[in-house]
Amino acid sequence: MQIIHKRRRDRQRAYPAGICGRCGGELYPGDARWLLGGRPLCRSCAAAWALEELAAFRSVCGEAKP
Ligand SMILES: [Zn+2]
Repeated sequence: MQIIHKRRRDRQRAYPAGICGRCGGELYPGDARWLLGGRPLCRSCAAAWALEELAAFRSVCGEAKP
């Protein structure tokens, strides 16, 4: 039997480096995170946060403006 060394660690075995402050999802080493309001957010929560912050500029195509 031959021993094969992996170049990358298996993500299934990696320990989380942090937790998303919104959804509680685990953040692993190398993952992107956004520090918003002093707490780390994962990619999907940061996108949702940004859309909520930009809600004042939201409109619907085809609707008349007031
Ligand atoms: Zn999250």
